Amino acid sequence: EAKSRGKNRYVFYTQDMTDTIFRASKLDTEMKRAIERDEFIVYYQPQIDLQTGGVVGIEALVRWNDPIKGMIPPNAFIPRAEENRMIIPLGEMVMKKALSQLKVWQDEKLFKGRMAINISGIQMEEENFVEKIETLRQGIGVDASSIELEMTESYIMTKAASSIAMLQELKQLGFSISVDDFGTGYSSLSYLKQLPLDKLKIDRSFIKDLPDDMEDRAILRAIVSLAQGLGLDVLAEGVEEEEQKLFLLENGCLMAQGFLFAKPMSAQACEEYLRQN
Ligand code: C2E
Ligand code: MG
Ligand code: MG
Ligand code: MG
Repeated sequence: EAKSRGKNRYVFYTQDMTDTIFRASKLDTEMKRAIERDEFIVYYQPQIDLQTGGVVGIEALVRWNDPIKGMIPPNAFIPRAEENRMIIPLGEMVMKKALSQLKVWQDEKLFKGRMAINISGIQMEEENFVEKIETLRQGIGVDASSIELEMTESYIMTKAASSIAMLQELKQLGFSISVDDFGTGYSSLSYLKQLPLDKLKIDRSFIKDLPDDMEDRAILRAIVSLAQGLGLDVLAEGVEEEEQKLFLLENGCLMAQGFLFAKPMSAQACEEYLRQN
């Protein structure tokens, strides 16, 4: 027995691959259990109107609150959840929690803006995606006009041809659609023109070296003027410095999100933030 193992008949499996497969299956089991135990929670990050300082939006960001490991960030499990399709129940859970929270804040008159929810391409490829989200929305009792769906630029652009009908359906129901991580995918200008989009979210990588970096200054101005020309809103992601904020204001990017204003926080902390702002 040991001898045949030593001979290693499955030469196409390297130790590295075996480790990867083993780790992935362990993560799968742990994620499945975490869904059952309701360990995934939603954090909230305000989006700011730079001219008034008011909160115009709130982005829902999932966290895995593991009883032993603590708070696990989405980059550690979303990619795997997309591979094993657990993003579907997980995404629904995030949507349910975020919209229920929105309803509470609206009823308490704490918030009048939109709740932004990140949607994975895997979710959108489900045949009944639009029906599911519309049913959920109606059940919770919030207006579609107060819901924004964030889809990454790379997904929207690669699937533009096949997703245009679905985006139009969402638009007709009153949902807003924003392009997340804008500038990192490959936007086709003709798709930008055709698709029913509402907002471009400029990726943090173009913001972080502002206002010093000459190229980033040029890119920022170009995106703002593109958005203005197409009648889209534009928001800067990952604003950490006062100088960045000033540069954005001077150049017509009037909405921002970032640690300068607020980090993603628990529902309770965000409620406190809303009360104070
Ligand atoms: P994203 O949608 O682009 O979200 C913005 C990320 O930037 C968040 O990371 C946020 O915490 C972080 N961020 C915000 N302001 C700043 C800042 O000033 N400085 C820096 N350094 N970072 C800032 P987070 O929460 O770790 O989420 C990472 C990504 O995971 C998200 O990127 C999104 O693509 C994905 N994600 C999060 N929640 C969900 C979800 O519920 N569903 C899906 N499908 N994806 C999600
Ligand atoms: Mg996002
Ligand atoms: Mg982003
Ligand atoms: Mg991102």
